[in-house]
Amino acid sequence: MGYDINSKQTVVGSNGLTVDNPKYLKQAKQKLTRLQRQLSRKKKGSVRWKKAKSRLNNLHGSIGRQRMDFAHKTAHRIANESDIVVFEDLNVAGMQKFNGKMVADNIMGLISDLTKYKVELRGGIHHEIGRFERTTGVCSVCGQHHKLTLKERHFTCVSCGTFSDRDYSSAIAVQKIGESDLMANGTVVRVTKTPNTQQKSGVKTKVFALAKLSLGSEEIEKVAT
Ligand SMILES: [Zn+2]
Repeated sequence: MGYDINSKQTVVGSNGLTVDNPKYLKQAKQKLTRLQRQLSRKKKGSVRWKKAKSRLNNLHGSIGRQRMDFAHKTAHRIANESDIVVFEDLNVAGMQKFNGKMVADNIMGLISDLTKYKVELRGGIHHEIGRFERTTGVCSVCGQHHKLTLKERHFTCVSCGTFSDRDYSSAIAVQKIGESDLMANGTVVRVTKTPNTQQKSGVKTKVFALAKLSLGSEEIEKVAT
C-alpha cells in the first residue's frame, strides 16, 4: 500500500484509507498561541506570570499526549491494513517546501516512523520513496504527469481521459514507485501463481514473496499488498 500526505496533512492510502489530521490538535495549537501571547505580556517571575506559565506547560503536555495518541492510532491502522507499506519521504525540509510554509510539527514523519516499527515487528516491510519522485498529478491508469495547483483536488488525464482524485492518485503513485523500488533491490519478488487456486481469476490482490533467505528458502512468506 502507498500512503500520501496532502498539504492539509491528511493521510490517504492507495487502499482508500483516509485519516484527517485531528481538529482538536489545530484548536489546541491556536489556544497555545493565545497563552504564549498572554504570558509575554506579564512581568517575568510575577504571580500572574507563574500562573500563565503553568497553564502553558499543562497545555504543552496535553497536546504532546494527544499528538502521540493520534500518531500511534494512525500507525496502528496502517500497519494493520498492509504488510508492505510505502510512504513519501517525510523529512521536514521537504514538507516545508511542499506546503510553502513552515511545518514545525512533522507529525506525519512520526506516523511513518511508528508504522515502520509496527510493520517490521510483524515481519512486514516499510519503505520510503525518494524525495524527488513525482507523485502529484500522476495518472494512475497511464502514468501521464500533470501540473496541478494546490487548489486542484481532481484532474482529468490529458492522455487517457481518466478522472482522478488528487490524493488517491498520489497514493497509487507512491505505491507503484515503492513496488518497483522493492523489486529492483530484491526485497520482494512477484509471485506469478496465486497461492490459493480457488481464488477467482481477476482478483486484484498482488502477491509478493519476501526475498529474505534467512528463514530457509523453502518457506517463503507470502505477503499481499
Ligand atoms: Zn491517463
